[in-house]
Amino acid sequence: MVQRWRDVARASGLASPDGSARPTIFAEMTALAQRTGAANLGQGFPDSDGPAWVRDIAAAAIRNGVNQYPPGRGTPELRHAIAAHQLRHYGIELDPEREVLVTAGATEAIAAAVLALAGPGDEVVTLEPFYDSHAAAIAMAGATHVTVPLTPDPDGFRLDTAALDTAVSPRTSIIIVNTPHNPTGTVLSSRELQLIAAAAQRANALIITDEVYEHLTFDGVAHTPIATLPGMAARTLTVSSAGKTFSLTGWKIGWITGPAELIEAVTAIKQFLTYSGGAPFQPAIARALIDGDADIAALRDSLSTRRDLLAAGLRNAGFDLIMPAGTYFVCADARPFLSDGDDGAAFARALPERVGVAAVPVSAFCREASTASQALAPWVRFTFVKDERTLRTAVERLRGLERTRGAVQR
Ligand SMILES: *Cc1c(COP(=O)(O)O)cnc(C)c1O
Repeated sequence: MVQRWRDVARASGLASPDGSARPTIFAEMTALAQRTGAANLGQGFPDSDGPAWVRDIAAAAIRNGVNQYPPGRGTPELRHAIAAHQLRHYGIELDPEREVLVTAGATEAIAAAVLALAGPGDEVVTLEPFYDSHAAAIAMAGATHVTVPLTPDPDGFRLDTAALDTAVSPRTSIIIVNTPHNPTGTVLSSRELQLIAAAAQRANALIITDEVYEHLTFDGVAHTPIATLPGMAARTLTVSSAGKTFSLTGWKIGWITGPAELIEAVTAIKQFLTYSGGAPFQPAIARALIDGDADIAALRDSLSTRRDLLAAGLRNAGFDLIMPAGTYFVCADARPFLSDGDDGAAFARALPERVGVAAVPVSAFCREASTASQALAPWVRFTFVKDERTLRTAVERLRGLERTRGAVQR
């Protein structure tokens, strides 16, 4: 019997290679942080809620009877707001009736799109490291996962362009892009996006692009949707969500946009995953997309300050790091603190006891024994989407981290 859950569990780190169940590294680190009272910079969700005026709209909707199934494609109001958002920010024109689908977060959008458009015998290419649900969706579809490393170099974690050319072939049905990128904080450059676009065109592959951090970029770095590149709108499904943009991750209001016939295919799957959801949240997010620019700017500024605070603290403590241009995360090289034979995973498991801080190893976002997972073995990811007090506590504690004897002094 095919028990696809085993492949899914393995792809997302929920099971060991022998198929036995285990908690994800995220659950393990959070449990450890709670047990030891560590500052939890492991799991990446905000510790303060999104704008009160947006929450008030949802609360009023609940009181005023917006509590039954919304339309399967999402309320017309929200679909129009999503289309208007894409036009205003990126010049992307969408028909809200046929080219926009509201989903239960970006996670459902990605799963439904991969299930709709790939199957056994197809290859789906992602960057590596990758967000865990991308790998799980590919496994659920029974497709084959092929990866292209993002490699640490002085310019940041950059796309391995030679690997891209090898990875994308006529067997490729989908390339999943993620920019701004979790876990590295990379915002793909226009050259990198052009290379991915060219590879997709050569292979006649579709693109699914996960842009949930589209508004959370720093230092004036701009996010470019790959759908805006010449010729790419016709083969691209763009995914985003209100969770990260408005610090409302528990609402799970996401969306997917693109050509009508592809949205039709995704809708066919989505209607039997959740059908619809989040009725009272949809009018609130519709307003937030129209009137929430000041809130987005405030979040971006505050995240940028918190990024600087954490990055400076990590550098002071002796870490080498790559400054992220976007997202909630900074990745640091833990080599000065590793004992012989240890890697980032061992370091992350020991860190709560060692100094009272929790982080996650970057290898948790990689496939076992892959080129990327070897190159990134000593790296750990810290989140800065926590209040400044928690960050200051973490930074103070990290100063007490002792270098391993024999570790290279930088
Ligand atoms: C958080 C996150 C998601 C999940 O988005 P939801 O809207 O909560 O489903 C998807 N992709 C990336 C890269 C994320 O970091």
